[in-house]
Amino acid sequence: MSIQYENLKFGENGLIPVITQDIVTNEVLMLAYANLNAIKKTIETGFAHYWSRSRKKLWMKGETSGNTQRVVRILTDCDNDTLIYMVKQKGVACHTGERTCFHREVWSIDEYRKNGRGVEDGGRQ
Ligand SMILES: [Zn+2]
Repeated sequence: MSIQYENLKFGENGLIPVITQDIVTNEVLMLAYANLNAIKKTIETGFAHYWSRSRKKLWMKGETSGNTQRVVRILTDCDNDTLIYMVKQKGVACHTGERTCFHREVWSIDEYRKNGRGVEDGGRQ
């Protein structure tokens, strides 16, 4: 099922969150925001555009780094208030040089195992 992008639900700030996913590896690459204009530009050019909240401007991913994102599909969720750009990432997504912005682990179930607990008990105690 497809939806007109004009019908997406933007927040009060006119922005909608965009999860960017690598279409080859399925990795989640980054989370950013888009306004209607950024989505239009993305569809028009085939390259991922976002709204930079810090610089308050339209921004094409890779415009300075060269690490562009060729957008293959855009999905919306059931509430039409979050997008996924599925992309072919050139180079890396993160400005730190890591492939994905999500390269730092906060927690994993291994923490339970260290304490002698298994997955079976859900680590609850
Ligand atoms: Zn990053």
